[in-house]
Amino acid sequence: MKGDPGTGPLPPGPWDVAVVGGGPAGLLAAGRAAMLGARVLLLEKMEKPARKLRITGKGRANITNMRPLEEHLREIRPEPRFLRGAFGAFFNRDLVDLLAAEGVEVRVERGDRVFPASGRAWDVAEALAAWAVRQGAVLVPRARVEALVVHDGVFAGLEVVRTGSGLRQRVEAPRCVLATGGLSYPGTGSTGDGLAFAEATGHRLTAPFPSLVGLRTRPALEEVQGLDLRNVALTVWIDGRKQDTEFGEADVTARGLGGPIVLRQSRRIVEALAAGRRVEAALDLKPALDPPTLEARLARELEARRTCGDLLRSLLPPLLVPVFLARLGLDAAAPAARLQEGLRRRLLALLKDFRLEVVGHGGWEEAIVTAGGVSLKDVDPRTLASRRVAGLHFAGEVLDLDANTGGYNLQIAFSTGWLAGEAAARAILNPGE
Ligand SMILES: Cc1cc2nc3c(=O)[nH]c(=O)nc-3n(C[C@H](O)[C@H](O)[C@H](O)COP(=O)(O)OP(=O)(O)OC[C@H]3O[C@@H](n4cnc5c(N)ncnc54)[C@H](O)[C@@H]3O)c2cc1C
Repeated sequence: MKGDPGTGPLPPGPWDVAVVGGGPAGLLAAGRAAMLGARVLLLEKMEKPARKLRITGKGRANITNMRPLEEHLREIRPEPRFLRGAFGAFFNRDLVDLLAAEGVEVRVERGDRVFPASGRAWDVAEALAAWAVRQGAVLVPRARVEALVVHDGVFAGLEVVRTGSGLRQRVEAPRCVLATGGLSYPGTGSTGDGLAFAEATGHRLTAPFPSLVGLRTRPALEEVQGLDLRNVALTVWIDGRKQDTEFGEADVTARGLGGPIVLRQSRRIVEALAAGRRVEAALDLKPALDPPTLEARLARELEARRTCGDLLRSLLPPLLVPVFLARLGLDAAAPAARLQEGLRRRLLALLKDFRLEVVGHGGWEEAIVTAGGVSLKDVDPRTLASRRVAGLHFAGEVLDLDANTGGYNLQIAFSTGWLAGEAAARAILNPGE
Protein backbone atom coordinates (compact mmCIF):
# COMPACT_ATOMS: atom_id res chain seq x y z
CA MET A 1 0.00 0.00 0.00
CA LYS A 2 2.82 2.37 0.94
CA GLY A 3 3.58 4.83 -1.80
CA ASP A 4 1.17 3.15 -4.22
CA PRO A 5 1.21 5.57 -7.18
CA GLY A 6 -2.31 4.53 -8.15
CA THR A 7 -1.30 3.74 -11.70
CA GLY A 8 -1.19 -0.03 -12.17
CA PRO A 9 -3.95 -2.58 -12.57
CA LEU A 10 -5.82 -3.81 -9.50
CA PRO A 11 -4.68 -7.07 -7.95
CA PRO A 12 -6.34 -9.99 -9.70
CA GLY A 13 -9.33 -11.64 -8.00
CA PRO A 14 -11.39 -13.58 -7.56
CA TRP A 15 -13.08 -11.61 -4.80
CA ASP A 16 -15.96 -12.53 -2.51
CA VAL A 17 -16.56 -9.06 -1.11
CA ALA A 18 -15.64 -5.66 -2.56
CA VAL A 19 -15.67 -2.84 0.00
CA VAL A 20 -15.94 0.70 -1.33
CA GLY A 21 -14.40 3.35 0.94
CA GLY A 22 -11.58 2.93 3.45
CA GLY A 23 -13.00 5.05 6.26
CA PRO A 24 -13.84 3.62 9.69
CA ALA A 25 -16.91 1.79 8.33
CA GLY A 26 -15.06 0.32 5.32
CA LEU A 27 -12.01 -0.76 7.34
CA LEU A 28 -14.17 -2.61 9.85
CA ALA A 29 -16.28 -4.17 7.08
CA ALA A 30 -13.20 -5.36 5.19
CA GLY A 31 -11.42 -6.65 8.29
CA ARG A 32 -14.43 -8.51 9.61
CA ALA A 33 -15.27 -10.11 6.25
CA ALA A 34 -11.64 -11.19 5.79
CA MET A 35 -11.47 -12.49 9.36
CA LEU A 36 -14.34 -14.84 8.51
CA GLY A 37 -12.45 -16.15 5.51
CA ALA A 38 -13.82 -14.06 2.64
CA ARG A 39 -11.52 -12.81 -0.13
CA VAL A 40 -11.85 -9.05 0.31
CA LEU A 41 -10.85 -6.14 -1.90
CA LEU A 42 -11.01 -2.72 -0.19
CA LEU A 43 -10.98 0.24 -2.58
CA GLU A 44 -10.14 3.75 -1.33
CA LYS A 45 -9.93 6.70 -3.66
CA MET A 46 -7.56 8.82 -1.56
CA GLU A 47 -3.84 8.10 -1.21
CA LYS A 48 -4.37 6.89 2.37
CA PRO A 49 -7.37 5.28 4.06
CA ALA A 50 -9.40 7.03 6.78
CA ARG A 51 -8.41 10.60 6.03
CA LYS A 52 -11.39 11.90 7.97
CA LEU A 53 -10.80 9.66 10.98
CA ARG A 54 -7.29 11.15 11.21
CA ILE A 55 -8.71 14.64 11.88
CA THR A 56 -11.58 13.68 14.18
CA GLY A 57 -11.84 15.10 17.67
CA LYS A 58 -9.42 17.91 16.75
CA GLY A 59 -6.83 15.28 15.82
CA ARG A 60 -7.47 13.25 19.00
CA ALA A 61 -10.40 11.07 17.75
CA ASN A 62 -13.27 10.67 20.17
CA ILE A 63 -13.71 7.11 18.94
CA THR A 64 -16.65 6.01 21.05
CA ASN A 65 -18.47 6.54 24.31
CA MET A 66 -18.56 4.11 27.23
CA ARG A 67 -22.19 4.84 28.08
CA PRO A 68 -24.56 1.88 27.84
CA LEU A 69 -26.41 1.01 24.66
CA GLU A 70 -29.68 2.72 25.58
CA GLU A 71 -27.85 6.01 26.09
CA HIS A 72 -26.13 5.70 22.71
CA LEU A 73 -29.52 5.18 21.11
CA ARG A 74 -30.82 8.36 22.72
CA GLU A 75 -28.13 10.38 20.90
CA ILE A 76 -28.94 8.99 17.44
CA ARG A 77 -31.34 10.21 14.75
CA PRO A 78 -33.66 9.54 13.02
CA GLU A 79 -34.25 5.88 13.86
CA PRO A 80 -31.95 4.66 16.63
CA ARG A 81 -33.63 1.24 16.92
CA PHE A 82 -32.29 0.43 13.46
CA LEU A 83 -28.86 0.09 15.08
CA ARG A 84 -29.71 -2.54 17.68
CA GLY A 85 -28.41 -5.33 15.44
CA ALA A 86 -25.17 -3.54 14.57
CA PHE A 87 -24.52 -2.52 18.20
CA GLY A 88 -25.34 -6.10 19.25
CA ALA A 89 -22.68 -7.38 16.86
CA PHE A 90 -19.94 -4.88 17.75
CA PHE A 91 -20.10 -2.19 20.40
CA ASN A 92 -17.90 0.18 22.40
CA ARG A 93 -16.16 -2.50 24.49
CA ASP A 94 -15.43 -4.56 21.35
CA LEU A 95 -13.78 -1.55 19.75
CA VAL A 96 -11.65 -0.87 22.82
CA ASP A 97 -10.59 -4.54 22.92
CA LEU A 98 -9.79 -4.60 19.19
CA LEU A 99 -7.63 -1.49 19.51
CA ALA A 100 -5.90 -2.81 22.64
CA ALA A 101 -4.98 -5.97 20.73
CA GLU A 102 -3.46 -3.69 18.07
CA GLY A 103 -1.43 -1.82 20.69
CA VAL A 104 -3.68 1.26 20.91
CA GLU A 105 -4.66 1.92 24.53
CA VAL A 106 -7.51 4.29 25.24
CA ARG A 107 -8.41 6.86 27.85
CA VAL A 108 -11.94 7.65 29.04
CA GLU A 109 -12.57 11.35 29.55
CA ARG A 110 -15.39 13.62 30.75
CA GLY A 111 -18.79 12.49 29.53
CA ASP A 112 -17.51 8.89 29.11
CA ARG A 113 -15.89 9.88 25.82
CA VAL A 114 -13.10 7.55 24.68
CA PHE A 115 -9.86 8.75 23.05
CA PRO A 116 -6.63 6.98 22.18
CA ALA A 117 -4.27 7.39 25.15
CA SER A 118 -1.62 8.76 22.78
CA GLY A 119 -3.96 11.63 21.89
CA ARG A 120 -3.42 10.86 18.20
CA ALA A 121 -6.30 10.01 15.88
CA TRP A 122 -3.63 8.99 13.40
CA ASP A 123 -2.70 5.99 15.58
CA VAL A 124 -6.28 4.70 15.43
CA ALA A 125 -6.42 5.02 11.63
CA GLU A 126 -3.08 3.27 11.15
CA ALA A 127 -3.98 0.49 13.61
CA LEU A 128 -7.34 -0.21 11.97
CA ALA A 129 -5.86 -0.25 8.47
CA ALA A 130 -3.08 -2.61 9.62
CA TRP A 131 -5.65 -4.82 11.37
CA ALA A 132 -7.85 -5.06 8.25
CA VAL A 133 -4.86 -5.96 6.10
CA ARG A 134 -3.65 -8.53 8.61
CA GLN A 135 -7.05 -10.21 8.52
CA GLY A 136 -6.37 -10.68 4.81
CA ALA A 137 -8.19 -7.75 3.17
CA VAL A 138 -6.37 -6.32 0.14
CA LEU A 139 -6.40 -2.54 0.54
CA VAL A 140 -5.89 -0.54 -2.64
CA PRO A 141 -5.61 3.24 -2.27
CA ARG A 142 -6.02 5.66 -5.17
CA ALA A 143 -8.76 3.47 -6.59
CA ARG A 144 -11.95 5.43 -7.17
CA VAL A 145 -15.19 3.60 -7.76
CA GLU A 146 -17.19 5.34 -10.44
CA ALA A 147 -20.29 3.17 -10.70
CA LEU A 148 -21.95 0.02 -9.43
CA VAL A 149 -22.76 -2.65 -11.98
CA VAL A 150 -26.18 -4.15 -11.29
CA HIS A 151 -27.90 -6.73 -13.51
CA ASP A 152 -31.58 -7.50 -12.98
CA GLY A 153 -31.52 -6.22 -9.43
CA VAL A 154 -28.39 -8.20 -8.51
CA PHE A 155 -25.01 -6.64 -7.70
CA ALA A 156 -22.41 -7.77 -10.27
CA GLY A 157 -19.38 -5.51 -9.92
CA LEU A 158 -17.76 -2.09 -9.83
CA GLU A 159 -16.32 0.33 -12.37
CA VAL A 160 -12.99 1.47 -10.90
CA VAL A 161 -10.47 4.13 -11.97
CA ARG A 162 -6.86 4.26 -10.71
CA THR A 163 -6.52 7.95 -9.85
CA GLY A 164 -2.78 8.04 -10.70
CA SER A 165 -3.17 6.90 -14.31
CA GLY A 166 -6.84 7.03 -15.21
CA LEU A 167 -6.69 3.27 -15.87
CA ARG A 168 -10.25 1.90 -15.92
CA GLN A 169 -11.17 -1.56 -14.77
CA ARG A 170 -14.19 -3.60 -13.86
CA VAL A 171 -14.06 -5.56 -10.61
CA GLU A 172 -16.39 -8.49 -10.19
CA ALA A 173 -17.60 -9.77 -6.83
CA PRO A 174 -20.84 -11.32 -5.63
CA ARG A 175 -21.05 -8.97 -2.61
CA CYS A 176 -20.29 -5.30 -2.04
CA VAL A 177 -20.23 -3.10 1.06
CA LEU A 178 -20.74 0.56 0.18
CA ALA A 179 -19.00 2.64 2.87
CA THR A 180 -18.30 5.91 1.11
CA GLY A 181 -19.36 8.26 3.92
CA GLY A 182 -21.46 11.38 3.57
CA LEU A 183 -20.84 14.84 2.16
CA SER A 184 -19.14 16.74 4.95
CA TYR A 185 -15.48 17.79 4.81
CA PRO A 186 -15.25 16.84 1.12
CA GLY A 187 -11.46 17.36 1.17
CA THR A 188 -11.18 14.08 3.11
CA GLY A 189 -12.75 12.11 0.24
CA SER A 190 -16.35 12.13 1.45
CA THR A 191 -18.01 13.65 -1.57
CA GLY A 192 -21.30 11.79 -1.58
CA ASP A 193 -20.35 9.26 -4.28
CA GLY A 194 -22.17 6.44 -2.51
CA LEU A 195 -25.35 8.49 -2.27
CA ALA A 196 -25.30 8.91 -6.04
CA PHE A 197 -24.59 5.18 -6.57
CA ALA A 198 -27.44 4.25 -4.25
CA GLU A 199 -29.86 6.56 -6.00
CA ALA A 200 -28.79 5.37 -9.45
CA THR A 201 -29.51 1.78 -8.41
CA GLY A 202 -33.05 2.49 -7.20
CA HIS A 203 -32.61 3.33 -3.51
CA ARG A 204 -34.56 6.10 -1.83
CA LEU A 205 -32.55 8.90 -0.23
CA THR A 206 -33.48 11.11 2.68
CA ALA A 207 -32.24 14.47 1.40
CA PRO A 208 -28.84 14.99 3.05
CA PHE A 209 -28.11 18.08 5.12
CA PRO A 210 -25.15 19.25 7.22
CA SER A 211 -25.31 18.58 10.96
CA LEU A 212 -23.05 19.32 13.93
CA VAL A 213 -22.20 22.56 12.22
CA GLY A 214 -21.46 26.14 13.31
CA LEU A 215 -24.00 28.92 12.79
CA ARG A 216 -23.92 32.21 10.93
CA THR A 217 -25.57 34.94 12.96
CA ARG A 218 -26.73 38.54 12.52
CA PRO A 219 -24.97 40.41 13.99
CA ALA A 220 -21.84 38.28 13.55
CA LEU A 221 -19.80 39.55 16.55
CA GLU A 222 -16.63 39.27 14.46
CA GLU A 223 -14.97 41.84 16.73
CA VAL A 224 -14.84 39.18 19.50
CA GLN A 225 -13.96 36.26 17.23
CA GLY A 226 -12.20 33.47 19.14
CA LEU A 227 -13.95 34.22 22.43
CA ASP A 228 -14.68 31.06 24.43
CA LEU A 229 -17.86 31.22 26.44
CA ARG A 230 -17.89 28.79 29.35
CA ASN A 231 -20.85 27.96 31.59
CA VAL A 232 -23.39 29.60 29.33
CA ALA A 233 -26.75 28.39 28.05
CA LEU A 234 -28.10 28.53 24.53
CA THR A 235 -31.82 28.51 23.83
CA VAL A 236 -33.09 28.12 20.30
CA TRP A 237 -36.20 29.97 19.15
CA ILE A 238 -37.98 28.96 15.97
CA ASP A 239 -40.68 31.23 14.58
CA GLY A 240 -40.84 32.91 17.99
CA ARG A 241 -41.35 29.64 19.87
CA LYS A 242 -38.91 28.51 22.50
CA GLN A 243 -37.16 25.19 21.78
CA ASP A 244 -34.46 23.35 23.75
CA THR A 245 -31.79 24.85 25.98
CA GLU A 246 -28.27 23.43 26.24
CA PHE A 247 -25.74 24.34 28.96
CA GLY A 248 -21.99 24.30 28.51
CA GLU A 249 -19.44 25.86 26.19
CA ALA A 250 -19.79 27.90 23.01
CA ASP A 251 -17.36 29.98 21.01
CA VAL A 252 -17.61 33.04 18.83
CA THR A 253 -16.44 32.44 15.26
CA ALA A 254 -15.74 34.88 12.43
CA ARG A 255 -19.31 34.73 11.23
CA GLY A 256 -21.32 33.47 14.17
CA LEU A 257 -21.29 30.82 16.87
CA GLY A 258 -19.69 27.40 17.25
CA GLY A 259 -18.71 25.06 20.08
CA PRO A 260 -20.36 22.11 21.78
CA ILE A 261 -23.73 23.56 22.79
CA VAL A 262 -24.15 25.14 19.35
CA LEU A 263 -23.27 21.94 17.45
CA ARG A 264 -25.65 19.91 19.57
CA GLN A 265 -28.54 22.16 18.57
CA SER A 266 -27.51 22.56 14.96
CA ARG A 267 -29.46 19.65 13.45
CA ARG A 268 -32.81 21.16 14.31
CA ILE A 269 -31.63 24.64 13.30
CA VAL A 270 -30.40 23.56 9.85
CA GLU A 271 -33.73 21.83 9.22
CA ALA A 272 -35.66 24.92 10.34
CA LEU A 273 -33.58 27.24 8.15
CA ALA A 274 -34.09 24.94 5.15
CA ALA A 275 -37.83 25.13 5.77
CA GLY A 276 -37.61 28.93 5.64
CA ARG A 277 -38.36 29.40 9.33
CA ARG A 278 -37.08 32.25 11.46
CA VAL A 279 -34.40 31.05 13.88
CA GLU A 280 -32.89 32.90 16.80
CA ALA A 281 -30.18 31.86 19.26
CA ALA A 282 -30.48 33.29 22.78
CA LEU A 283 -27.34 33.18 24.92
CA ASP A 284 -27.78 33.23 28.67
CA LEU A 285 -24.44 34.46 30.00
CA LYS A 286 -25.46 33.90 33.62
CA PRO A 287 -27.41 30.64 33.60
CA ALA A 288 -26.56 29.87 37.24
CA LEU A 289 -28.30 33.07 38.44
CA ASP A 290 -32.07 33.46 38.24
CA PRO A 291 -33.30 36.99 37.42
CA PRO A 292 -33.86 38.16 41.06
CA THR A 293 -30.42 36.85 42.11
CA LEU A 294 -28.80 38.51 39.11
CA GLU A 295 -30.63 41.74 39.89
CA ALA A 296 -29.31 41.66 43.48
CA ARG A 297 -25.79 41.03 42.16
CA LEU A 298 -26.13 43.97 39.76
CA ALA A 299 -27.27 46.22 42.61
CA ARG A 300 -24.19 45.25 44.64
CA GLU A 301 -21.87 45.83 41.69
CA LEU A 302 -23.47 49.21 40.99
CA GLU A 303 -22.52 50.37 44.47
CA ALA A 304 -19.00 49.01 44.22
CA ARG A 305 -18.03 50.15 40.69
CA ARG A 306 -17.17 53.63 39.54
CA THR A 307 -17.74 53.55 35.79
CA CYS A 308 -19.99 51.65 33.39
CA GLY A 309 -16.83 49.97 32.00
CA ASP A 310 -15.86 48.77 35.51
CA LEU A 311 -19.39 47.54 36.10
CA LEU A 312 -19.50 45.48 32.91
CA ARG A 313 -16.01 44.09 33.50
CA SER A 314 -17.25 42.72 36.83
CA LEU A 315 -20.02 40.84 35.06
CA LEU A 316 -18.63 39.78 31.67
CA PRO A 317 -15.59 38.33 29.89
CA PRO A 318 -13.44 41.39 28.98
CA LEU A 319 -13.94 40.92 25.22
CA LEU A 320 -17.69 41.26 25.59
CA VAL A 321 -17.55 44.58 27.45
CA PRO A 322 -17.35 46.78 24.31
CA VAL A 323 -20.13 44.72 22.69
CA PHE A 324 -22.41 45.37 25.66
CA LEU A 325 -21.44 49.05 25.84
CA ALA A 326 -22.38 49.42 22.16
CA ARG A 327 -25.66 47.52 22.51
CA LEU A 328 -26.65 49.65 25.52
CA GLY A 329 -25.38 52.90 24.01
CA LEU A 330 -23.11 53.47 27.02
CA ASP A 331 -19.77 55.15 27.41
CA ALA A 332 -17.18 53.09 29.32
CA ALA A 333 -16.15 56.14 31.32
CA ALA A 334 -19.70 57.18 32.31
CA PRO A 335 -20.34 56.91 36.06
CA ALA A 336 -21.98 53.57 36.90
CA ALA A 337 -24.21 55.17 39.54
CA ARG A 338 -26.01 57.11 36.81
CA LEU A 339 -27.21 53.97 35.07
CA GLN A 340 -30.91 54.62 34.86
CA GLU A 341 -33.58 52.10 35.72
CA GLY A 342 -34.45 51.45 32.05
CA LEU A 343 -30.83 50.73 31.14
CA ARG A 344 -30.42 48.46 34.15
CA ARG A 345 -33.42 46.45 32.97
CA ARG A 346 -31.92 46.21 29.48
CA LEU A 347 -28.56 45.13 30.87
CA LEU A 348 -30.24 42.40 32.94
CA ALA A 349 -32.24 41.28 29.90
CA LEU A 350 -29.11 41.18 27.73
CA LEU A 351 -27.18 39.11 30.27
CA LYS A 352 -29.95 36.51 30.38
CA ASP A 353 -31.04 36.70 26.73
CA PHE A 354 -28.40 37.92 24.29
CA ARG A 355 -30.32 37.37 21.10
CA LEU A 356 -28.77 36.72 17.69
CA GLU A 357 -30.64 35.97 14.52
CA VAL A 358 -29.41 32.75 12.86
CA VAL A 359 -29.09 33.41 9.16
CA GLY A 360 -27.19 30.33 7.99
CA HIS A 361 -24.65 27.65 8.86
CA GLY A 362 -21.17 26.50 7.89
CA GLY A 363 -22.33 24.05 5.19
CA TRP A 364 -20.55 20.89 4.05
CA GLU A 365 -17.09 22.42 4.43
CA GLU A 366 -17.57 22.76 8.19
CA ALA A 367 -20.16 20.15 9.14
CA ILE A 368 -18.91 17.29 11.31
CA VAL A 369 -21.52 14.94 9.99
CA THR A 370 -24.10 14.35 7.25
CA ALA A 371 -27.71 13.92 8.31
CA GLY A 372 -29.93 12.12 5.81
CA GLY A 373 -28.63 9.53 3.35
CA VAL A 374 -29.70 6.11 2.08
CA SER A 375 -33.22 5.55 3.41
CA LEU A 376 -33.37 2.95 6.19
CA LYS A 377 -36.55 1.69 4.58
CA ASP A 378 -34.42 0.20 1.82
CA VAL A 379 -31.97 -1.55 4.17
CA ASP A 380 -32.38 -4.67 6.34
CA PRO A 381 -31.12 -3.78 9.84
CA ARG A 382 -30.11 -7.41 10.56
CA THR A 383 -27.59 -7.57 7.71
CA LEU A 384 -27.44 -3.99 6.38
CA ALA A 385 -28.28 -5.54 3.02
CA SER A 386 -30.11 -3.51 0.43
CA ARG A 387 -33.76 -4.40 -0.09
CA ARG A 388 -33.43 -3.17 -3.69
CA VAL A 389 -30.20 -4.71 -4.97
CA ALA A 390 -29.26 -8.28 -3.96
CA GLY A 391 -25.64 -8.59 -2.85
CA LEU A 392 -25.24 -4.95 -1.81
CA HIS A 393 -24.75 -3.79 1.80
CA PHE A 394 -24.39 -0.31 3.30
CA ALA A 395 -22.26 0.86 6.23
CA GLY A 396 -21.44 4.14 7.95
CA GLU A 397 -22.41 7.69 7.24
CA VAL A 398 -23.82 6.92 3.80
CA LEU A 399 -26.87 5.64 5.71
CA ASP A 400 -29.59 7.94 6.99
CA LEU A 401 -28.19 7.86 10.53
CA ASP A 402 -26.35 10.51 12.51
CA ALA A 403 -25.70 11.32 16.11
CA ASN A 404 -24.68 13.97 18.55
CA THR A 405 -21.09 14.74 19.48
CA GLY A 406 -19.54 12.40 22.04
CA GLY A 407 -18.05 9.56 19.95
CA TYR A 408 -21.41 8.26 18.76
CA ASN A 409 -20.88 8.92 15.04
CA LEU A 410 -17.69 6.90 14.87
CA GLN A 411 -19.29 4.07 16.82
CA ILE A 412 -22.10 4.00 14.23
CA ALA A 413 -19.47 3.68 11.48
CA PHE A 414 -17.51 0.94 13.29
CA SER A 415 -20.61 -1.08 14.25
CA THR A 416 -22.35 -0.90 10.89
CA GLY A 417 -19.06 -1.67 9.13
CA TRP A 418 -18.51 -4.76 11.25
CA LEU A 419 -22.06 -6.05 10.74
CA ALA A 420 -22.11 -5.35 6.99
CA GLY A 421 -18.76 -7.11 6.51
CA GLU A 422 -19.88 -10.06 8.59
CA ALA A 423 -23.21 -10.41 6.75
CA ALA A 424 -21.58 -10.07 3.32
CA ALA A 425 -18.97 -12.73 4.14
CA ARG A 426 -21.48 -15.12 5.67
CA ALA A 427 -23.75 -14.85 2.63
CA ILE A 428 -20.87 -16.16 0.50
CA LEU A 429 -19.27 -18.62 2.89
CA ASN A 430 -22.46 -20.07 4.39
CA PRO A 431 -25.06 -19.49 1.68
CA GLY A 432 -27.62 -21.75 3.33
CA GLU A 433 -27.59 -19.89 6.69
C1 LIG B 1 -13.71 17.52 11.60
C2 LIG B 1 -14.46 16.28 12.02
C3 LIG B 1 -14.31 15.81 13.31
C4 LIG B 1 -15.03 14.68 13.72
N1 LIG B 1 -14.84 14.22 14.99
C5 LIG B 1 -15.52 13.12 15.40
C6 LIG B 1 -15.28 12.57 16.70
O1 LIG B 1 -14.39 13.00 17.45
N2 LIG B 1 -16.05 11.50 17.08
C7 LIG B 1 -16.99 10.94 16.25
O2 LIG B 1 -17.66 9.98 16.67
N3 LIG B 1 -17.18 11.40 15.00
C8 LIG B 1 -16.47 12.46 14.55
N4 LIG B 1 -16.64 12.91 13.26
C9 LIG B 1 -17.56 12.17 12.37
C10 LIG B 1 -16.87 10.90 11.82
O3 LIG B 1 -15.59 11.23 11.35
C11 LIG B 1 -17.70 10.29 10.68
O4 LIG B 1 -19.01 10.06 11.12
C12 LIG B 1 -17.06 8.98 10.21
O5 LIG B 1 -15.77 9.23 9.68
C13 LIG B 1 -17.92 8.28 9.15
O6 LIG B 1 -17.24 7.11 8.73
P1 LIG B 1 -17.50 6.45 7.31
O7 LIG B 1 -16.51 5.34 7.20
O8 LIG B 1 -18.92 6.14 7.16
O9 LIG B 1 -17.16 7.59 6.26
P2 LIG B 1 -15.82 8.40 5.95
O10 LIG B 1 -14.98 8.54 7.17
O11 LIG B 1 -16.29 9.63 5.27
O12 LIG B 1 -15.03 7.47 4.95
C14 LIG B 1 -15.49 7.24 3.64
C15 LIG B 1 -14.32 6.84 2.77
O13 LIG B 1 -14.78 6.46 1.49
C16 LIG B 1 -13.90 6.97 0.51
N5 LIG B 1 -14.65 7.09 -0.74
C17 LIG B 1 -15.68 7.92 -1.01
N6 LIG B 1 -16.11 7.77 -2.27
C18 LIG B 1 -15.33 6.80 -2.82
C19 LIG B 1 -15.29 6.22 -4.11
N7 LIG B 1 -16.10 6.60 -5.09
N8 LIG B 1 -14.35 5.25 -4.35
C20 LIG B 1 -13.48 4.86 -3.37
N9 LIG B 1 -13.48 5.40 -2.13
C21 LIG B 1 -14.40 6.37 -1.86
C22 LIG B 1 -13.46 8.30 1.08
O14 LIG B 1 -12.28 8.76 0.49
C23 LIG B 1 -13.33 7.98 2.56
O15 LIG B 1 -12.04 7.54 2.89
C24 LIG B 1 -15.91 14.02 12.82
C25 LIG B 1 -16.03 14.49 11.52
C26 LIG B 1 -15.31 15.60 11.12
C27 LIG B 1 -15.46 16.09 9.70
